[in-house]
Amino acid sequence: MARTSTLSLARLSVRGVVQGVGFRPFVYQLAARHNLKGWVLNASGAVRIEVEGEPAAITRFRRDLEREAPPVAHIEEITCEAGEPVGYDKFEIRDSVPEPGRYQLVSPDIATCPDCLHEILDPADRRYGYAFTNCTNCGPRFTIIADIPYDRPNTTMRVFEMCPACRKEYDDPADRRFHAQPNACPVCGPRLELCDAQGNPLACDDVIARTADLLKAGKIVAVKGLGGYLLAGDAASDKAVARLRRRKHRPAKPLAVMLTTLEEVRRHCEVSDAEADLLASPGSPIVLLRWKPESTVAASVAPGLKYLGVMLPYTPLHHLLLRAAGRPLVMTSGNLSEEPIARDNDEAVARLGGIADCFLRHNRDIYARYDDSVMLVAGDTPRFTRRARGYAPHPVRLNYPSRQILGVGAEEKNTFCLTRDNFAFVSQHIGDMENLETLEHFKDTIGLYQRLFRIAPEIIAHDMHPDYLPTKYARELSAADDGLKLVPVQHHHAHVASCLADCGVSGPVIGVSLDGTGYGPDGRIWGGEFLVADYVSYRRTAHLEYLPLPGGAQAIRRPYRAALGYLLALGLEEAIEHSSITKVYSDEVAIIRTQVKKGINTPLTSSMGRLFDAVAALTGIRPVIEYEAQAAIELEMHADDAPGETGAYPFALAEEDDTIIIRVRDLLAAVLEDIKHKTSQAVIAARFHNTIAGMIVEVCQKISVQTSLKATALSGGVFQNRLLAAQAARRLESAGFTVYTHRQVPPNDGGISLGQVVIAAHQKE
Ligand code: ZN
Ligand code: ZN
Ligand code: FE
Repeated sequence: MARTSTLSLARLSVRGVVQGVGFRPFVYQLAARHNLKGWVLNASGAVRIEVEGEPAAITRFRRDLEREAPPVAHIEEITCEAGEPVGYDKFEIRDSVPEPGRYQLVSPDIATCPDCLHEILDPADRRYGYAFTNCTNCGPRFTIIADIPYDRPNTTMRVFEMCPACRKEYDDPADRRFHAQPNACPVCGPRLELCDAQGNPLACDDVIARTADLLKAGKIVAVKGLGGYLLAGDAASDKAVARLRRRKHRPAKPLAVMLTTLEEVRRHCEVSDAEADLLASPGSPIVLLRWKPESTVAASVAPGLKYLGVMLPYTPLHHLLLRAAGRPLVMTSGNLSEEPIARDNDEAVARLGGIADCFLRHNRDIYARYDDSVMLVAGDTPRFTRRARGYAPHPVRLNYPSRQILGVGAEEKNTFCLTRDNFAFVSQHIGDMENLETLEHFKDTIGLYQRLFRIAPEIIAHDMHPDYLPTKYARELSAADDGLKLVPVQHHHAHVASCLADCGVSGPVIGVSLDGTGYGPDGRIWGGEFLVADYVSYRRTAHLEYLPLPGGAQAIRRPYRAALGYLLALGLEEAIEHSSITKVYSDEVAIIRTQVKKGINTPLTSSMGRLFDAVAALTGIRPVIEYEAQAAIELEMHADDAPGETGAYPFALAEEDDTIIIRVRDLLAAVLEDIKHKTSQAVIAARFHNTIAGMIVEVCQKISVQTSLKATALSGGVFQNRLLAAQAARRLESAGFTVYTHRQVPPNDGGISLGQVVIAAHQKE
């Protein structure tokens, strides 16, 4: 009796990504190690645990629960309360308990774990060479789920009945595959198939070896992956890359490369410890790495760039294919230019038949389209350029409990966001909303998120731009349902609020929102904005002066048009002759002059993106672009060639109606002067970057004097520029500012939906 008196009992409830990730077997083994009795079970809203034993052992159990959790679990919250001991005689895993109305976080898809990789490479293992090997620590999750709870009948694995060997693993709490819903083996699971461009199966003994031979021969192969088809080709062959680019109508935009191992990555790129960790992480994103000159990856993979997008194999199929091909492979989204990634087998043949020579596919259906994530490491901090596979639908945690709101996002790089409780579920990258296929993908995916997380929004937040497809969709929804309230949100306010929510702070801050295009309430195109803002409201305290954009959208594709428009408007006409662009486009100068003078199809803009474009065009670095932001990216690459340059150009700050106007006449005049004196493109580019960083600090200091604010938030697509982002943050910090930057969502328009929902949540009735 003396012994039981020292027993105590604890009831724990664990919330987060804790189902389908091996959490219950982990708890089972942890309880055994600490000599505790009781049980663990999956409920709809949480994993519930009851443990009984020595008080000190329970304390250690509680500590290790968090410390030693499975690698892909993500604990949001553990609650623990004491209870009366009941005298359990063992520890057991009990049957799941459904709780109506409750929801669970859903795990993203997870890259193949080391144990599974070992098995597929081990000739003695029953899964040797099996392309669909997975366990509770890895494999498909989000892309195969149609509904919760996350059980096999609710996934696209429902059609595969487990063989006795797989079933035994699935039922054994001591096994790595205990309740691994996609568990499969060569006997019972999905199978590979190689088809020609028309979708007719090709007979062959070894599908992987045959595909590798085709790749080695320069063929383009559409490979079915986790969230859709990727187009693969020999990355070391200029010919194969040119063929892929021609067929995909993608002349210059950089392509991503898959390399077999981290060691191989190091042969092609410089890899810091933080970058190596990110490459090998469960998310396994594409990481933009500094490209070594001696790399054998063809220059045409990322023309003119110093960074190469690299990823490691993240499914067994990729591991096997890369090893068989024995060379770097281009792996790019299986689509034609800006359409969504192809998902179903028939759809892929219909849409990719003109691009791919053959299809490496399988009979496990994909439920959710899911592009590869793209990240870079700045300092030691991983940052998103595109957030999808491996990360979505993991939510951003809000610092307030939210009503149920849908933010439909912006037009380019669209994501949407749904909120409930303290969670903001930012969707995976949907794409540029300029075609009906992408709009369908957007609608389908909103439906999936609403179902998975049991969300029925009462408010819809949208961009103020009346012509954006997501804005039109929001209006249609509210027209069909009187109860739905619409909240229009200004684009750059959304950027700043997104950065605040990303960092878990509410503001107010001095928001520095720099991008290419955003609708201003005055009908002009904003993009070089300093907003004093919080979740509730914003005040536009400073911005770049308005300048003409002759031809509107045409001037975005042809930066020399913006450059000429700027010079004409600023009275720098006589200096035009010094810039390299007049030689090439002299016949257009007269037309553009008339356009600007009469204001014909010439909107006014305060865009920072266009200022980068103008300088890239004037210096001759990039007068006409072939993909979005190409001019600004190449300007950054040139600046990178003059790392020691400290010079900067002048600019002026004027005040109009309590607003600071940043005047750039002196800046552009000085650039033209440098061009006249044959200063190198690298030095001009570096001086321009220094100027913009200095401009950010000076304007923030002025606003700080007026407002006493010492915190800044940097957001907008311009902050994807590594040089500018690093320099601005460093100089702001040494000037005594706190600097908030994005970590969980991209600074570009992929983050807009998060900003929209936090602003909508704080609107007064
Ligand atoms: Zn595994
Ligand atoms: Zn099996
Ligand atoms: Fe933007």
